[in-house]
Amino acid sequence: MRVRTRFAPSPTGPLHMGNARTALFSYLFAKKERGDFVVRVEDTDKERSSPEWEKDVLENLELLGLNWDEGPSTTEDRGSFGPYRQSQRTEIYKEYLEKLLAEKKAYWCFCLEDELEAQRQDQTSRGETPRYSGRCRTLSAAEQEQNKKAGKSAIIRFIIEPKKVVFKDLIRGEISFDTSLSGDIVIAKDMETPLYNFTVVVDDELMRITHVIRGEDHISNTPKQLLMKEALGFKQEIKYAHLPLILGEDKTKLSKRHGDNSVTRFKKEGYLPEAIVNFLALLGWNPGDSREIFSLQGLVKEFSLDRVQKGNAIFNIQRLDWINGFYLRQKDKKVLARLTIPFLVEAGLLEANGNGEQKKFSLKIQKSYPYTVKETGEGISLEFLGSVVTLYQERLKKLSELAELADFFFKKELSYEKELLSWKGMTEQEVKESLGTTKELLSELKEGDWTKENLEEMLMEKAEAIGDRGKLLWPLRVALTGKKASAGPFEVAAVLGKEKTLSRIEEAILKLQ
Ligand code: GLU
Repeated sequence: MRVRTRFAPSPTGPLHMGNARTALFSYLFAKKERGDFVVRVEDTDKERSSPEWEKDVLENLELLGLNWDEGPSTTEDRGSFGPYRQSQRTEIYKEYLEKLLAEKKAYWCFCLEDELEAQRQDQTSRGETPRYSGRCRTLSAAEQEQNKKAGKSAIIRFIIEPKKVVFKDLIRGEISFDTSLSGDIVIAKDMETPLYNFTVVVDDELMRITHVIRGEDHISNTPKQLLMKEALGFKQEIKYAHLPLILGEDKTKLSKRHGDNSVTRFKKEGYLPEAIVNFLALLGWNPGDSREIFSLQGLVKEFSLDRVQKGNAIFNIQRLDWINGFYLRQKDKKVLARLTIPFLVEAGLLEANGNGEQKKFSLKIQKSYPYTVKETGEGISLEFLGSVVTLYQERLKKLSELAELADFFFKKELSYEKELLSWKGMTEQEVKESLGTTKELLSELKEGDWTKENLEEMLMEKAEAIGDRGKLLWPLRVALTGKKASAGPFEVAAVLGKEKTLSRIEEAILKLQ
């Protein structure tokens, strides 16, 4: 039988890393088995669901490359088992609700919320698990009619027969539940408003889902869903795999308390989609050896549920940084340069120059790249940006870091304290002389010879002659960058070019007068 998995997000918030991991594992399993990956939007909670959250979820799935074979899209649903939004399936659910009611497997319950609350409190105070007493289960047809006529509001409950439900979880092995501990569950607020445990069973059947792969927090729903499946006479065999919980570093369940865990946040900080996917895969799965770097295609080949651990997974941001750094180092310098642009724009260093070409990105555009340095209005080339990022490529952990590390390339004037120019107690006079010497030397170098190698050769010779290299190189580096720590002076000078280098040295000398 063709394997079909589904990812069933409720669009009540952004796609967060935990749900993205669930989507990824469902995707990987389906693709490994050459089956279908279905996305179904579970938007039955009308108050909390919104089209914006749905958009966020779908866009981020696309960003991560988790393309679904069937599911909703902003234009037209893909696949022949739709619609794929539960809000568009009300008529389908109605039919099955009617069937359950007619067969007396479900019933209308007229109990009021405060009566139920009192019951719950009573049970809890006696140390019992709170559950519905079943009071309305035995109402006669006449009593039901009477209640309805009296305008009493009602919900639909499904009868949970007390028995032992056993199922085999593909990750956790055999799991058994005693359903006598659960009261009859609410499956619809009315005929038009069915609820999760019911809709999921109907949809998994009608969408021919073969494997339900979801978070461990849904384990306790599984027996209820199995009973409902039986009651509805559904025959499709479904295998279950419940993924381990994801914990924060403090060993509590990953949640908002740990900060914003949305995929969008990580994207905005400059984590690459391939790094996020790689990181998520290792949250609960391992390849059985020490490899840590996997592309999505590589994961499809290697993935198996056998290698998903039962124990909780820890969300370790250092690991994500490490993986992201790895992918950043692999990038071609122009590709990387292109990727940093939104971050430099966000930091107020660059701006789109309005010639409308931003979207028509081509590596060939060089001199007329459609961005300019905000403070100076100078045009920049992709070549130039590429040289800047190359200086940091080795140590960059996320794209957003570049703006702070390399801002001096995009500033009109640098602001730093003149004391910073001094290396190990050099006096102002000594610093001035050092910068003067450098300026003189560098003025002699022709534009065409302005390379890192030539600069290094020239300056190192002088620096060695002075004895303490720092006396020449430190003031120069600070003059060019305004920073305590930065890339080295030769590299920076090479990228800045002769004119800017000399004018920055000049500015530093002026500070000292
Ligand atoms: N809509 C449910 C959720 O977001 C899906 C649970 C399931 O996969 O059955 O948690």
